[in-house]
Amino acid sequence: MSRIDHTTKIVGVIGHPIKHSLSPQMHNQTFELQNLNYVYLPFDVLSNQLKEALKAMSILGVRGLNVTIPHKEKIMQYMDHISEEAASVGAVNTVVNEENNYFGYNTDVNGIIESLNPYKEEITKSTVSVIGAGGAARAVIYALIRYFKIERINLINRTEERSESLKDYFKGKMHYDQIFTYELMAKENLELYQSSKLIVNATSIGMAPNIDDSPTDLKESFNSSQIVFDLIYNPLKTKFIKLAEQQNATVINGLKMFVVQGAKSFELWTGEKMDIDFIYSELIKQLS
Ligand code: NAP
Repeated sequence: MSRIDHTTKIVGVIGHPIKHSLSPQMHNQTFELQNLNYVYLPFDVLSNQLKEALKAMSILGVRGLNVTIPHKEKIMQYMDHISEEAASVGAVNTVVNEENNYFGYNTDVNGIIESLNPYKEEITKSTVSVIGAGGAARAVIYALIRYFKIERINLINRTEERSESLKDYFKGKMHYDQIFTYELMAKENLELYQSSKLIVNATSIGMAPNIDDSPTDLKESFNSSQIVFDLIYNPLKTKFIKLAEQQNATVINGLKMFVVQGAKSFELWTGEKMDIDFIYSELIKQLS
């Protein structure tokens, strides 16, 4: 980092808690590799400090931010412009500072589309089960409705108010009325999973260090004609993915999504392309 000087541009990630993020490594390694005078830093910011943190961003000349749990929704009110996609999703994960005008984007959507695109034909117009109703689930549901024309979405979540509110949100925003909500541990879920072409885990259940947890413990939830997508990338193989593999389902982990969303943010800040394949293989080495 000896190249840091008065022209160095600052980007980073704000969230709480912020530990364990691989984003600083991904971006700093790419800045080094592509000889760009940028530095990426993690900022642990509490919800009640979000407004102040954004003020500081213009004072300190911070070029851009990734936004993570729990700020993705709340940060929208402080943006000067919001991309059509982020406005539809209802969450911002990337901020670009253009001469103290804040532009909000959602690059998680890009990561989700890239991860699912190889299976587009099978997924399009099918029935899908989405587990989770947080910020990531919002981006998943938006992508499913907009790009894969999904016929029915079973939305399964621990807290019912949250899934109900997502259902109402997409009914209002995208005029989509085919979301049906269920509790996480309900008996009928097995049937829902079995009848789904695609099952997505958009919860943090199974994330390190809780690697023995899974949104479903029943391998019968899965079958060989399904695609099973876990947004978690640490571990690369969650228990959820392992159970699906036992039933010969096609599985996708969250690493491609992570790298693609990061690459898109990188491009928005720097105007340069990230070497996605290189970073992906570097992270695989580290996580394996
Ligand atoms: P979030 O807004 O905090 O939502 C968390 C979701 O997980 C909620 O649906 C929550 O249910 C559920 N949940 C958490 N702990 C649970 C537990 N012990 N039992 C049952 N449900 C539980 O988080 P998010 O931003 O949506 O992220 C969700 C996951 O996606 C995380 O694992 C994150 O790492 C991953 N993600 C991956 C990428 C990527 O690039 N690969 C990008 C974004 C997110 P309640 O509503 O009941 O609380």
